[in-house]
Amino acid sequence: MQISEKQLAQVNDRIQALIKADNFYGKKLKEACITELKTPEDFLKLPFSEKKDLRDAYPLGLMTPPEEDIVRIHSSSGTTGTPVIIPYTRKDVEDWATMFTRCYETAGITNKDRIQITPGYGLWTAGIGFQAGAEKLGAMVIPMGPGNTDKQIEMMTSLGSTVICATSSYALLLAEEIQKRGIRDKIKLKKGVIGSERWSKKMRDRIANELGIELYDIYGLTEIYGPGIGINCQNETGMHYWDDYIYLEIIDPKTGEPVPDGEQGEIVITTLVKEGAPLIRYRTHDLSRIIPEKCSCGRTYPRIDVIMGRTDDMMKIKGVNVFPSQIEEVLGTFPEISSEYQIRISHLDGKDTMRIYVETTGDVDFNDLTKRIAERVKSRIGFTPIVKAVEVGVLPRSMKKTARVIDERFSEE
Ligand code: ZN
Repeated sequence: MQISEKQLAQVNDRIQALIKADNFYGKKLKEACITELKTPEDFLKLPFSEKKDLRDAYPLGLMTPPEEDIVRIHSSSGTTGTPVIIPYTRKDVEDWATMFTRCYETAGITNKDRIQITPGYGLWTAGIGFQAGAEKLGAMVIPMGPGNTDKQIEMMTSLGSTVICATSSYALLLAEEIQKRGIRDKIKLKKGVIGSERWSKKMRDRIANELGIELYDIYGLTEIYGPGIGINCQNETGMHYWDDYIYLEIIDPKTGEPVPDGEQGEIVITTLVKEGAPLIRYRTHDLSRIIPEKCSCGRTYPRIDVIMGRTDDMMKIKGVNVFPSQIEEVLGTFPEISSEYQIRISHLDGKDTMRIYVETTGDVDFNDLTKRIAERVKSRIGFTPIVKAVEVGVLPRSMKKTARVIDERFSEE
């Protein structure tokens, strides 16, 4: 999706601010001798920014306006090395709330709703973002923060919360707990707004069915305001994003070149009006695609597909880019197999081979099942894998993140 004239003017404005601040991106601009963009082609000459640039700017190197304009900072969790500190001006905080309000409205949530917020507050951008948007909408906020499931359920039943905001894992835990206690008739929930980590359709359906609610995926990252820069509408066909605040590109993660609309690649975001820490062509490492068609809901905000994973998950097999999420999605359509699977990729006789191991019970015809799975995977990714079925419990289990993809092509030499 080509950058519009208005967006280009906004980027030019940010470029001036960054050069003046002389921070990491201001320096990049100087090195590239860029002071102004005249055409959409010029935009593509702008250098990317990376998480590492942001880490190197710790603590306040991203601050672009004078310090008296900064009203708040947020920080990414920093599980891997130095955290990233993002400064916000008053306008940034307000803009973020406006975007978040738009997310709630897109989900059909109104000022008559009671919104229970379970993501964390504090340095993390989640809780406070959900709250500011809900208050701006005029809804009643129940600011729980994470954990304490007993208290969550008590407040949910006595206050009659109609909306739950949560991560997908916590939403599942709550759904299971409500089912276990047999109190679904005491719950008034209608909608769930879920932070858009990648989750399988099996998990999504389970939460939706057990709580009897509609689910909305909200998108965002701390570096770019936080959650709230996009959400799906009732049609559940990807997520609308707010192109008056961000310009979003999809690039080939290997070459850095933009891909045509509709093709998968890495999401790269430019903030158009952010003051505290404007970011230009920031590589998110999230994988998705622009959905080129107009949404039948009538909204003109552009759409991206649900997040398919991270660039580090991508596998190139037989010249085709394959994401584990695509395989997982296909496997999710077979009720006779368990949620566990394993993908092994090897290189034999000059050819890439993909084997998929799935688990099922003994009363299923293994040959017939594996044939049907292979056909359905082929129609999704374009080539036929070798599918092998094993008894339930045979594949390795892990308390943490299970390694589901094993690429033997690089380890055999
Ligand atoms: Zn729509």
